[in-house]
Amino acid sequence: MKFLLDMARRHDIELHFKRLTDSVRGYSLPERTIVIDLDLSEERMNWTFCHELAHLLQGHGKPDGPVTAQHEREAHDQAQDLLLPPETFHPDAHQLFLTELKERYPQASWEVIALTRVRHRPGVLTIFDNNKRTVRTAPQPLLYPSKLHPLEQAVRQTLNANNPTAHQNGDDLQVEGVFIDEGRGVERIILIADSDHE
Ligand SMILES: [Zn+2]
Repeated sequence: MKFLLDMARRHDIELHFKRLTDSVRGYSLPERTIVIDLDLSEERMNWTFCHELAHLLQGHGKPDGPVTAQHEREAHDQAQDLLLPPETFHPDAHQLFLTELKERYPQASWEVIALTRVRHRPGVLTIFDNNKRTVRTAPQPLLYPSKLHPLEQAVRQTLNANNPTAHQNGDDLQVEGVFIDEGRGVERIILIADSDHE
């Protein structure tokens, strides 16, 4: 909770926790007030807070205007920067493995760390939840095949609860992966492939 309280203080935000309905995780009010669903995990609270803070900082929906899809994209990008400050996260993304990033930035979820990691250091991010592929993405203009590269397959196959991290280098590709089971009934595998040279 420290991250959340520090951020609220630093940005002069009044923070409220409420039990919200299923689809609403949080919202912001014009008078620098942000309301967060109290049933969220701490990582999700942090993300939701940063997303709503981004809307406030950018003046979205003021005074009574609509919040557009463009606003949502802008809030999403700025939320990443509020949660994972680029001045430290950018160099770290080039030097550290995913597990090291997660240790250094415990305020963010694995998914947000992985998504932000490929934004700062272009790579192809793939996520499997219970063996079902739920994400395969890369920042533009990086092109990538929809099918996994053999090296990605190889790393994926070594990952399990007993061997939760793996890293392999190929000729012009490196792949790292993590296996995550946070006890919510989902076994998640995250793979990032990128070219070896910077
Ligand atoms: Zn939003």
